[in-house]
Amino acid sequence: MPVLDILGPTAGRTAPPSAPALPTRSETRILPMPPLEWNEQVANETAHLYARVKTVIPEIEWPFFAPYVKAINALKKERNAVILAHNYQTPEIYNCVADFVGDSLQLAREATRVDADVIVQCGVHFMAETSKILNPEKTVLIPDSKAGCSLASSITGEDVRLLRARFPGVPVVAYVNTSADVKAEVDICCTSSNALQVVESLPGDTVIFVPDQYLANYVAGQTSKKIIAWKGACEVHERFTGEELRRFREDDPTIQIIAHPECPPDVIAEADFTGSTAHMIDWVRAKRPKRIVMVTECSMADNVQAELPDVEFVRPCNLCPHMKRITLPKILDSLVYMKEEVVIDPAIAERARRSVERMVNLKS
Ligand code: SF4
Repeated sequence: MPVLDILGPTAGRTAPPSAPALPTRSETRILPMPPLEWNEQVANETAHLYARVKTVIPEIEWPFFAPYVKAINALKKERNAVILAHNYQTPEIYNCVADFVGDSLQLAREATRVDADVIVQCGVHFMAETSKILNPEKTVLIPDSKAGCSLASSITGEDVRLLRARFPGVPVVAYVNTSADVKAEVDICCTSSNALQVVESLPGDTVIFVPDQYLANYVAGQTSKKIIAWKGACEVHERFTGEELRRFREDDPTIQIIAHPECPPDVIAEADFTGSTAHMIDWVRAKRPKRIVMVTECSMADNVQAELPDVEFVRPCNLCPHMKRITLPKILDSLVYMKEEVVIDPAIAERARRSVERMVNLKS
């Protein structure tokens, strides 16, 4: 069923900052900065990690990364910390310092299970907020609090209240790519992995779905429910076009194309498969195509390439500038100085937790 209506901010409205400056909670013991020189010992101790990424990180670059990798892995033990890394993180983070990797849903689920005092979220700000919402007693750090998201900054809690006033009684679903303030106002969250399941789980024949208009459109195509969408978009995925994908196919008719549902409809129409980042990775693992275009953030192809060197990835490279704010030096600073701590108003966190937990607890 086509999307019923798409509402959203009027052109020219200034979006609120998605990653406001956050106060830190308390005095924390600062640890000494570890040595960061490259030497034979560092080379030996990190050789097994370089083996994981050697297909995507040139040997000449490893002496820069290795001292940070060694220092971060040692400090994680000292702080009793875990690193959660999104699939869009760069290979040296994803493969060499992360304890858990995945899409937003996998990281949200993992965040409820971790047995650590500190969570370092290598992703964007709304992901760190989600971890904090689910772990109010733990310290959650994000290496760069300016790592925002065009979707999260497209809508506010006040916008959701206005939507509720306009469509009384209609349930509201928020994609996890939203601030805690928005999550606190909605009935349930979803990710691109479970958006259809979440929409179908709600009562009534109409659902308000915010803020990604393209994901809303993708879900609308698979459900009989009427969807009222919001005019938000991912600045990375909306840059892809069906036209560029058709050119890939003209050059190589055997190429496989898989796309993320945050892409515009003409891109999804060209794809052989559409799914969340986790589902895209599973698809490549299962099918092992000879050549493939992964229509999503560019680093994910590097991360899957490191695992599956026999698959050739053709990369129309769109990077997320927010994800790329997270670097090894900033992760090290996080663990040394215990910054930037994610702090959420407890009343907002409590209401947001209900929306996230409803999603996490939904039977798959
Ligand atoms: S890739 Fe898109 S949806 Fe993901 S964090 Fe970047 S801007 Fe947000």
